[in-house]
Amino acid sequence: MRIEELPVDERIRRVILGRGIEELYPPQAEALRSGVLEGKNLVLAIPTASGKTLVSEIVMINKLLREGGKAVYLVPLKALAEEKYREFKAWESLGLRVAATTGDYDSTDEWLGRYDIIVATAEKFDSLLRHGAGWIRDVKLVIADEVHLIGSYDRGATLEMILSHMLDKAQILALSATVGNAEELAGWLDATLVVSDWRPVELRKGVFHLGELMWEDGKRESYPENWESLALDAVRKGKQALVFVNTRRSAEKEAVSLSSKMARLLTKPEVRELRELADSLESNPTNEKLKRAIRGGVAFHHAGLSRAERTMIEDAFRDGLIKVITATPTLSAGINLPAFRVIIRDTKRYSGFGWTDIPVLEIQQMMGRAGRPKYDRVGEAIIVARTEDPKTLMERYVKGKPEKLFSMLANENAFRSQVLALITNFGIGNFRELIDFLGRTFYFHQRKDTSSIEYKAKDIVYFLIENEFIDMDLNDRFIALPFGKRTSQLYIDPLTAKKFRDAFPKLEENPNPFGIFHLIASTPDMATLRARKREFEDYLDLAYEFEEKLYTEIPYYEDYGFQGFLGEVKTAKVLLDWINEVPEGRIYETYGIDPGDLYRILELADWLIYSLIELYKLFEPKKDVLSYLRDLHLRLRHGVREELLELVRLPNIGRRRARALYNAGFRTQDDVVRAKVRDLLAVEGIGMKVVEGLFRHFGVELPEKAKKGGKTAERRKKGTLDDFLS
Ligand code: ADP
Repeated sequence: MRIEELPVDERIRRVILGRGIEELYPPQAEALRSGVLEGKNLVLAIPTASGKTLVSEIVMINKLLREGGKAVYLVPLKALAEEKYREFKAWESLGLRVAATTGDYDSTDEWLGRYDIIVATAEKFDSLLRHGAGWIRDVKLVIADEVHLIGSYDRGATLEMILSHMLDKAQILALSATVGNAEELAGWLDATLVVSDWRPVELRKGVFHLGELMWEDGKRESYPENWESLALDAVRKGKQALVFVNTRRSAEKEAVSLSSKMARLLTKPEVRELRELADSLESNPTNEKLKRAIRGGVAFHHAGLSRAERTMIEDAFRDGLIKVITATPTLSAGINLPAFRVIIRDTKRYSGFGWTDIPVLEIQQMMGRAGRPKYDRVGEAIIVARTEDPKTLMERYVKGKPEKLFSMLANENAFRSQVLALITNFGIGNFRELIDFLGRTFYFHQRKDTSSIEYKAKDIVYFLIENEFIDMDLNDRFIALPFGKRTSQLYIDPLTAKKFRDAFPKLEENPNPFGIFHLIASTPDMATLRARKREFEDYLDLAYEFEEKLYTEIPYYEDYGFQGFLGEVKTAKVLLDWINEVPEGRIYETYGIDPGDLYRILELADWLIYSLIELYKLFEPKKDVLSYLRDLHLRLRHGVREELLELVRLPNIGRRRARALYNAGFRTQDDVVRAKVRDLLAVEGIGMKVVEGLFRHFGVELPEKAKKGGKTAERRKKGTLDDFLS
């Protein structure tokens, strides 16, 4: 279908033509003819890069221009929210307003009411639903990107519940990878199903074994024995490669190894640019490896890297400067980063129970990254058989069908929190209504039976009553209690809330950072670190050393939770180091963690300590304890000792600048107000921008002379925590 013939507002056609797109891809045309433009629900299951976003844009803008109201676009990752936000901004030329929202789960975000298109992570939208934001009733369209994540153990239930809530209230457009039971999904959503394996770039798939590359059509090619030759060959052809491996350490190792073989394939200007890129990274153990790899035109990409570094790598790859990326599968989930050749080194991964095969769905998502539209005529996806039989891999992953999706609603943790939310925030009044609601879910649609889930729901309801999240009146009607309502709004697991409440008496008696951090680390909402075997003794010693500070007993060696406990002690110790201003690099080294891990722990701890404070407020809080907790929260947010608390309250003053100011003799806000501009600028990390901010904050006019003469030497190094937290 030509864009000119598209039965939508003429302004929409103009914007699309402006992008240089004149013709719809066949599955796009099919999707737009399915009735979705007239308001019917649609499940669109087509490969990555075949233009799902454009379809959703057309549906969305068409609906907004015709009917008004709002559209919500759900994504699984914060990074994707930003990507979509930037893409959708183009529609502001038609007078529509676009917003993105991801963090802060304890807010109604009424400001979003002013926007027409709202991009949000599923968790964020779920929390907005719980808060009952006023503008939710104006939502006329919900677009769920990567809807196959309904089958993900941790996150599936959230997406499933959102769609169950919105099903009768808004039009649904669900975008999915190819899955084994797309019909079932469409059946649940009362949607038309459009499935296609059409791709804008042809995809060739094969299996590589000991130097022999077998394509799916039977053709064979010979290479040197090691799979690295496939990546080098791509670069030699002037193309790029993505290599998927199963652990962070292998991603790092392979990147450094490949990099050492790339020297002759790079031009002089490239070598210079790569060196500059590597030098712009700050020093820490992970970055040392990254620098070595980047100098040879290779990078690794995994969840241990900070956001800034990941973005930098993605950009340099898109620009063609970085030639090969070795990545863990996190990269295949969503980020739009295609390459001519995709090499899958591992088809197994280690889970808690040993080695398991990676699902076909995931491997096919990785393979789908092959081929850059506009640059490549074909893309190549190659699976490496190392210990596996190449024929088995060919059958399973190349010719095989992806798995079916299964509802993950019954996952205990997720379900507990969802049942609470239904009662406290969504007006579910008794057990019958709860079961009726569950009848709307994918779980029910799939099994045509809720008896086993009813059983679970009953247990959960008892747990909630027993722990005073809810109550029941004489007519068996649920009563939402403040503790339950607040827990649900704070978006924490009821088990976390219970742990907090149980600890309040001890906490009041003995408020101290280690005890509080251990409490936080022991909740199911924390990404608690694992203690390694050789660390066991150290952390046990530490636990005994701090025994009086803990709010729980130290378990026995044989106890079920013993190893988990040591991980909690380790996590608490990381947080303690952080607020004692131990430099980040030392933390990474001491605990064997990556920058991304520290960031994640800090982000979660920040949210959990906030929640701890909010819940404590419900139980006749002691003033001094409350203010102790608030100070600790601020120390955690900035990673500072108590003496810097006054300084970090100033704008743009984080842990490093506050420490530098303090050491230079500026110990209070008063010292700063009375300082000479020149003296402030002499402090490390303080430039003109920061000084201007400070003066603005104090409502003081900056001397004319200073405005002209100031240096702006402060440059935040990429990939530092300061950069992150800013
Ligand atoms: P998906 O969301 O399915 O992964 P995208 O929507 O991101 O894929 O599309 C991938 C690329 O293809 C984008 O750069 C987009 O602009 C381009 N594209 C989409 N539809 C068309 C089309 N009909 N003709 C040409 N390019 C298109």
